Amino acid sequence: MQALDSAQLYFSRAASMLELSDRVTALLAGAHREVRVQLPIEMDDGHLATFSGYRVQHNNARGPMKGGLRYHEEVNLDEVRALASLMTWKTAVVDIPYGGAKGGIAVDPHRLSDRELERLTRKFVSRLHEVIGPDTDIPAPDMGTDWRAMAWIMNEYNKFEGFNPACVTGKPAELFGIPGREEATGRGVGILSLKLLDRLGRQPQQTRVAIQGFGNVGLHTARFLQLAECQVVAVSDLSGAYYNPQGLDIQSLIQYTHQGDGTLRGYTEADALGGDELLGLDVELLIPAAIGGVITAENVGQIRAPVIVEAANGPIWPNADDQLIESGVVILPDILANAGGVTVSYFEWVQNRQHYKWGLARVRQELDRALSGAFEAVWQLASDRSISLRMAAYMLGIDRVREAVDMGGIR
Ligand code: GLU
Repeated sequence: MQALDSAQLYFSRAASMLELSDRVTALLAGAHREVRVQLPIEMDDGHLATFSGYRVQHNNARGPMKGGLRYHEEVNLDEVRALASLMTWKTAVVDIPYGGAKGGIAVDPHRLSDRELERLTRKFVSRLHEVIGPDTDIPAPDMGTDWRAMAWIMNEYNKFEGFNPACVTGKPAELFGIPGREEATGRGVGILSLKLLDRLGRQPQQTRVAIQGFGNVGLHTARFLQLAECQVVAVSDLSGAYYNPQGLDIQSLIQYTHQGDGTLRGYTEADALGGDELLGLDVELLIPAAIGGVITAENVGQIRAPVIVEAANGPIWPNADDQLIESGVVILPDILANAGGVTVSYFEWVQNRQHYKWGLARVRQELDRALSGAFEAVWQLASDRSISLRMAAYMLGIDRVREAVDMGGIR
């Protein structure tokens, strides 16, 4: 199973439940534009290295296309296609005026120096500036990228197209960014997890949580849920999993990552487990917040959590999803669960266009409002039709895009 097969399967199930016509299904299944670029750069030692970059613009019926830029060695066109389509449904589910896109470069960013990463990012923009922009396609951070790359993107884009900070989001707060963008995806996962637990009649204090991944998303999710009095008992990163049945001290974990190699390697205030063991822990809430395709037909039998919130994009393959749903596990799907990031990206873009600075309190308040509205709509549809939250989220998102196509016609 691959990311693209998975996204297409979920899409086609929802499309048939919506009874979309074959023509509209064909339109929404494909991408508006797909670009592959060759990115030759000079490495610090003087030799030439060539990388492949991708940008897939899936659909713009509801507005400019929006989505992150991923730096990971396994990035490929099919994966970017899948992720671009998820962005179309995600922006529609939270009802922000965007379409969907995604980009990536096949590179392990940890192997490049800062200067090399900057050259690579600038090269990517120099190859693509004609097809991206504030009214067409707006990149943002994703796995392996952060505010630094977004600042370089803005700077390079401005060189070609003139000053326009709304051409990219996730910029540093000091440089046309918005307070609260960095925490937004994790905070959104936290907000939505609490809503879901509440709906299921579970108390935060009686909820043990395991989070796979301690990058930007996992870390902010852990922090938020701990403040909400959930017991975060396990987190993991590339170095393994760390477990304390009494609850971890998230602040001390965060501080630990600021030393050494940036991972939790050697952290002693918890039991060290193998990375995969985290998925099978006896917890009430499991949050995969790392990469796609981690819960598969092979390991689904290990899952003991009754509730899963998908902070990562596409962490559960459909055959595992079917089994989990059958056994009564409640899953909050990625296109809703991690939509906090793109929602605050939208606020940043609005701020840039208004030349007006938003404060953190306003960002958090509006994020809460947007996610609450989306959660209610998805929950309602799932209850009315007796379907999973994933099918409800896909149906809601796809139907809004269909409506935009119907009303606006084809561009
Ligand atoms: N990369 C994030 C996502 O998958 C954020 C995208 C954005 O802010 O445009 O939703």
